This record gives sequence, C-alpha cells and structure tokens, in this order.
Amino acid sequence: MPSNKSVSDAPITQFINCKILKDYRLQREDLWTRDGKIIDPEKLFFDEQGYADKHVDCKGSIIAPGFIDLQINGGFGIDFSQSSQDVVAGVSFVAKKILEHGVTSFCPTLVTSPPAVYHQVLPQVKVHNGGAHGAGVLGFHLEGPFISKEKKGAHPEQFVRTFQSGTVEELLEVYGSLDNVAIVTLAPELAGSQSVVRELSQRGITVSVGHSVANLHQGEEAVRHGASFITHMFNAMLPFHHRDPGLVGLLTSDQIPAGRTVFYGMIADGIHTNPSALRIAHRVHPSGLVLVTDAITAMGLPPGRHPLGQQVIEIQGPHAYVAGTKTLSGSIATMDMCVRHFRQASDLIVLDDDLNVKATYISGQEVWRKEEEDDTCGWKLA
Ligand SMILES: [Zn+2]
Repeated sequence: MPSNKSVSDAPITQFINCKILKDYRLQREDLWTRDGKIIDPEKLFFDEQGYADKHVDCKGSIIAPGFIDLQINGGFGIDFSQSSQDVVAGVSFVAKKILEHGVTSFCPTLVTSPPAVYHQVLPQVKVHNGGAHGAGVLGFHLEGPFISKEKKGAHPEQFVRTFQSGTVEELLEVYGSLDNVAIVTLAPELAGSQSVVRELSQRGITVSVGHSVANLHQGEEAVRHGASFITHMFNAMLPFHHRDPGLVGLLTSDQIPAGRTVFYGMIADGIHTNPSALRIAHRVHPSGLVLVTDAITAMGLPPGRHPLGQQVIEIQGPHAYVAGTKTLSGSIATMDMCVRHFRQASDLIVLDDDLNVKATYISGQEVWRKEEEDDTCGWKLA
C-alpha cells in the first residue's frame, strides 16, 4: 500500500509517461516515490505543496517491481558452491551483474556439498540490502544435502544424506550455522524430515520440498508441518500420476491448511519445463508461481566445460548438462530471459514492450541503467 510520511525532506521523484500493472492491466499512470517508497500523490497534494523534485521520463516503458531470484547457483564464471573461490567477492560480483537483468535481490544457492563447504561458505555472506553495489542478499538457499538419491539431478550423490536424528544439532553439524539461511530444499519422504521441517519453519527459514520421490500425502504432511515452497516444480520429482500426483498434486491439494499458500519455483527457460506444463501450473495455481533461474556459473559464459559445486557441467547450445551425460543441470538463463519466455507461455507482462530491462532501481535509487544508444530509447532524467 502506498504510504506517506506527512513530513519528510527526502526528495520526491515522479516517474512520468510510464505503464503500471494495475487490476491485471497495464495502465498509463505516473508513479511517485520518496525515500524508496511508493507514495500516494493525492495525499501528497492534500498535505503539502505537491511537487516533484525530480522527473524520470519513462517514454512509455513499463514500471514493474524488481525481480527476486530465489534460486541462483552463480553466474558469470562464479560458482557459489566452490569453496576454493573467494565467496564474498563472487557473490558481490554476481550481485552487481544481475542488476542489468532486473534482479534487485536474490538467494545465493548452494548445491549438495560436503559439510566443510557449508562451514566455510555460509558465515562469509550476511543478509544485506541492495544498492548501487549490487542486488540485495536475502539469505542462502541450501538445496540439499537431505534429498533423494533417485532424484538427485545434478547433485553429487556422494554428498547426499539422510537424517539420522532429525534434530537441530544434526542440521548444525552439517551446515555449521543456520544464520543467514533463507531457504532449505529437502526431500519430505526422508525419515525424520517432519521434525526438521517444523524446526526450520519455527526459525523463520522457508522449507521447500524438492529433489524428491515423495507421494502427495508426504508432501501434504510437510506443508502441515510448515513447508511452504516447492523447488523447481516438475523437475527432480515424480511425474504427475492420476492416482498419486506426487508433489505436483500440491498445486491443487485440498489438504493445504486454511490461509496458507504453497509457492512453487519454476525454471521458465524454455528447456527445463515445457510451456504446456508451465501453463498447467500457472492456470491451476497462479498466485503460487515464482520464476527462478536456477542459474549456474555458466550464465553469461560461452559454451564449454565449467565447474558446478563438486562436479563439471558442459554447456551445449542453450543446455547445461552434467559433463559426459544428458542430465540437465541448472540453467544458463538470466531472470529477464525467463520472464520473457514466461510471457510467451502465459498472460504475464513485465517491463518494457519487448521485456528488455532498461533500468533497475533499488530503494528508489537508480542502480543500473542501459546505455542509451540514441535518444529514442532508454530513460532520461528530465
Ligand atoms: Zn535442483
């Protein structure tokens, strides 16, 4: 909701000539901001003089909320799961680079790794706000190691684990710390998982079910204990079956507690998910859909072999495989590519008419802007 402070010396910015998504339609309307918050111009005119300190001419572009990527393993040559790399510098580098893809905050994601990697990497990157230095960090997404060996995907099997006690002590033994952890992906069919789901949820950590052979009942149990997300829907889980729809069935389950929403990530790069599957998920549960890139180190790099955690992946055209296999690894798509692809598969419309990111703002500040090739495109301060 728009909010105004009645007294503030902060400059007011008025975005003019822009389109805003309102009531499911793009509408031409100005947007007013102050102190990084959207303000209600009517209240402004009523309380104060009613003026803007700065005008930004959007020249007909769309203004949309900044993208949030909940699953990104790295990119631009950086792999967050490589403890041999300088993780602080790596996260900062990616944080800066993804501004130009419209991402304003993200969860650096670690694939299944040995405990030593978690112990080394996790303490180094704290939750922090975004700005001109880069997109904000919401906390780590730990994908594994408590996942199904059968649905391990590109995760290295030798580090996949089951729960021994299902206690916090066990989690701390493996991860070292749960500070700065935002999301944990686990397989809910593992014995002991329900107490872990409860424990993590109570600590405000989002539990996501995935890399799993769980049946629907096991998925529903996890949700009942606090799980609220499904990791890359359709990928690394049982396929939909009409007698046991598996985790896919959570999209339409009538066993979700009242007032709760189960969200689900989708890699909408046109490779991991067929557009028809994307449409099925979106049509039956539109409010739960979260686009993720699941991007890996090779995002933004040329074809060839690149490290991913403890393994090597190979980029062939638009595909990323575990080297020497046809097992799909993470994607090499950027977030804006996913949004553009998703628009083709559904009705969602974001950003400018071609869905190219033209500028990125964090807390009301312009933190990235596409170079203007000529004065007929891009943004211009008036
Ligand atoms: Zn995965």
